[in-house]
Amino acid sequence: MNEYDSAKMADVLAASDGYQRTTEPDEADLLLLNTCSVREKAQEKVFSELGRWREWKTARPGRQVAVGGCVASQEGEAIARREQLVDVVFGPQTLHRLPQLLDATRASGRPAVDVSFPEIEKFDRLPEPRADGPTAFVSIMEGCSKYCSFCVVPYTRGEEVSRPLHDVLVECAQLAASGVREVTLLGQNVNGYRGAAGDGSTCDLALLIHYVARIEGIERIRFTTSHPLEFDDGLIEAFADEPKLANYLHLPVQSGSDRVLKLMKRNHTAGVYLDKIRRLRAARPDIALSSDFIVGFPGETDDDFRATMDLIAEARFDSAFSFVYSPRPGTPAANLRDGVPPAVKQERLSILQNRIRQLSDEYCRGLVGGTFPVLVERPSRRGDGQMAGRLSNNRWVNFDAPADAVGRFVDVTVTEALSNSLRGRLAEAGATA
Ligand code: SAM
Repeated sequence: MNEYDSAKMADVLAASDGYQRTTEPDEADLLLLNTCSVREKAQEKVFSELGRWREWKTARPGRQVAVGGCVASQEGEAIARREQLVDVVFGPQTLHRLPQLLDATRASGRPAVDVSFPEIEKFDRLPEPRADGPTAFVSIMEGCSKYCSFCVVPYTRGEEVSRPLHDVLVECAQLAASGVREVTLLGQNVNGYRGAAGDGSTCDLALLIHYVARIEGIERIRFTTSHPLEFDDGLIEAFADEPKLANYLHLPVQSGSDRVLKLMKRNHTAGVYLDKIRRLRAARPDIALSSDFIVGFPGETDDDFRATMDLIAEARFDSAFSFVYSPRPGTPAANLRDGVPPAVKQERLSILQNRIRQLSDEYCRGLVGGTFPVLVERPSRRGDGQMAGRLSNNRWVNFDAPADAVGRFVDVTVTEALSNSLRGRLAEAGATA
């Protein structure tokens, strides 16, 4: 989501004032910091990073610093008070106002702050999407109304607001026309999507996926992130019926303990989650599954943690993101008594991560020898002349292919499983799509 927002900031500034991106701070007139406040560490990094920018700011008059994202949204004016070099503070929903905010601070000589939630206005003011390669994110909704007790997102990004169906489809069609083959439908809780359709009805995520699949040129569709509660039968059916829907699902569960899930206000049990996974696997037997986990939630016992490990064994995730619980100011869980010692939390995290690594390794070894359609996305980051692309299951593979293969689907046979990627070779000379 932050990657998407950063790209939009660059687009807005390019369209309004001709700003160009540079990798050299010395060349820059403006430094933008896009921030995350999901965990405390990310938040702390903001001020240490800004501290490093002081010299840059004073080295040339007229240089500007803007801070956006969720830390900006949460702290607002306090950021400019604490760090005097900051000229503009803007939130995830006001990034389209960045050019006006930069002008305002230039005119007044005082910091300009706007962290309001003007709902969907942002999307109406953004420049036309530009394709930057054969894959693209398409934001379909903003915010979250789930209010999990640990999570800061509803307070920093606001409640769920869906973009109208027509706007999403037009954006996908524009991207397809400029060479995009794969879209990732993006939002904090995409299966809460309820987009207004032209006839007065609302369209949910499953229906949206079917519409996007009909757009010429779009060959693969992903979505992220979803909440288990709204992962409904319609979506399971979409996995059964819609071959363009990628063979991958990221469905955060956070814990396998019903007691902890209740304290987290997730509003479902481990059993309900596993039942959804079972039905999903019936619809798409070889689907790759990933999840998010929080360990060391206040009061988490050994039994609670064991329940999480049991759920992992049963769901057979092939990858996961896992974090130690980080209390966030203003969230209900921040007031819970937390008796779990930090060393115990760290130990649980490493047990969980080792288990996921083991499942991931097994999964990847199982891919070796298989041949899969791969969208060639870019030259490999290793700089060895190979090309890189993703399988439908979201795994990266590196292989020899001509540079002009970028943007095409090719069949790749997996030859080796490494820890973070796969190696393969072209199964045939021609592209499949
Ligand atoms: N909407 C998704 C959901 O909850 O189902 C996930 C979006 S959330 C912004 C991304 C992940 O960050 C969460 O799934 C959770 O694992 C992690 N996270 C959020 N708040 C956290 C906290 N206070 N401490 C540690 N991890 C946290």
